[in-house]
Amino acid sequence: MSENCIFCKIANGVIPSKKIYEDEDVIAFNDINPSARIHFLIVPKIHIESLAHCETQHQTLVGKMLLLAPKLAKEQGLAGFKTLINTGVDGGQEVFHIHIHVLGGGNLPKT
Ligand code: AMP
Ligand code: ZN
Repeated sequence: MSENCIFCKIANGVIPSKKIYEDEDVIAFNDINPSARIHFLIVPKIHIESLAHCETQHQTLVGKMLLLAPKLAKEQGLAGFKTLINTGVDGGQEVFHIHIHVLGGGNLPKT
């Protein structure tokens, strides 16, 4: 756990979230400031700063996160969805713990 990381704190139950899924590796919860009617985040429990910090050892974990997107989207009632991974300050990343945004259900952002 990284000391000042909000997603580590959520993953460890230190601060609350609207959780929609959890297993030993991953947690998914609703975004606090949704950009679509449905907007949740898929987050690994281990602290990895961004997609650019992933290494070969993280391949299975990242694959698992990605494959969870359609499963959880379906559970949320979505027929289709958008995924987004912001990477680095220049990529619009604000929380430096890798996460996949999943958005759907209308009012989708253009990109
Ligand atoms: P990013 O810009 O890709 O780093 O996105 C970070 C996302 O985390 C934003 O969409 C925020 O609304 C969301 N967020 C920040 N704090 C929380 C929180 N405590 N619970 C849920 N979502 C959060
Ligand atoms: Zn973290």
